[in-house]
Amino acid sequence: MLLDASRAQDVAEAASLLRAGQIVALPTETVYGLAGNALDPGVVGAIYAAKGRPSDNPLIVHVASADDLPSVVREVPEAARTLADAFWPGPLTLVLPRRDVVPDRVTAGLDTVAVRVPAHAAFRAVLDAAGVPLAAPSANRAGSPSPTTAQHVLHDLDGRIPAVLDGGPCAVGVESTVIDLTTTPPRLLRPGGVGLEQLRAVLGAVDVDPAVAGDLAPGRAPGSPGMKYRHYAPAAPVVVVEGTTAQAAAWVRAQEVAGVAVLCFDEEAAAFDGLDVVTYGSTTDPASLARGLFDALRTLDRPEVTRIFARCPESDDGLFRAVRNRLLKAAAFRTVRPGP
Ligand code: AMP
Ligand code: MG
Repeated sequence: MLLDASRAQDVAEAASLLRAGQIVALPTETVYGLAGNALDPGVVGAIYAAKGRPSDNPLIVHVASADDLPSVVREVPEAARTLADAFWPGPLTLVLPRRDVVPDRVTAGLDTVAVRVPAHAAFRAVLDAAGVPLAAPSANRAGSPSPTTAQHVLHDLDGRIPAVLDGGPCAVGVESTVIDLTTTPPRLLRPGGVGLEQLRAVLGAVDVDPAVAGDLAPGRAPGSPGMKYRHYAPAAPVVVVEGTTAQAAAWVRAQEVAGVAVLCFDEEAAAFDGLDVVTYGSTTDPASLARGLFDALRTLDRPEVTRIFARCPESDDGLFRAVRNRLLKAAAFRTVRPGP
């Protein structure tokens, strides 16, 4: 069932499905989430089953406001209050010591729980009406790019879930920033809508988990279990081609181009003229890249595409870091740097 987030009665229907123990895909400002009552282990099990998500990859719990934190976490450190004041509601997830009411299935057995207060008006209305915290991982089949439209959700999950609340394209387009507040200093586990510089401006020192850049020592577990999975990826292998536009275009044209598709910035389309080109936003506007990336990766999921060469921002400022992280993950961290 496709529900319309701009209709109050459809929002109420989504909330009543959730109260009845169903799972429903909802728009958030980051990506669409597959929501269910976070305190009901059976419902949480249904979320994992619909997504095909490995059971060791924990879910984010969404609450209506920072005042609800004590209902799911044991302690609210000063840093959590500071971040909540600065960035909630918004695309920031805090990892904190969990309370026992949060089922093991939500946290994959960890002693911590990830919590966020989302900003999207329809999600907030559903949260209020449902009256329970909502576990909501991205509403895609595990491994495929996160959904940024209701159509993406239907493509992956139609027939597996009872309803999608359509709120149009997501404003941010990549998932929330995840920060672990149980370590000193706090540690960035996943870059997202809130930049590392913004976190450091209010918290001071913040470490970056090595898994963010892909350099995880063999045998070492990432701080965030989800970071170990290949993710966000179309069927064809993706390789990031670094360097200038001219260097990258010359290198790509020197390859066997049958089956090749190119993912590049808007400004670069002409340089790859004649090839199968998909653009995802402007290199001068990181927000446009974040909004366009997952849709572009889904567009590249076509049988005739057997190899994808992707252009990736080299900057780590602000949202660029999240775009770079998602694209490198889609590429399983395979990169080439052509010579001059
Ligand atoms: P998704 O909801 O699909 O955006 O994925 C949620 C992300 O949050 C995954 O990368 C999880 O590994 C991470 N996450 C959820 N709970 C925790 C936790 N307790 N500790 C660390 N990372 C977590
Ligand atoms: Mg996900």
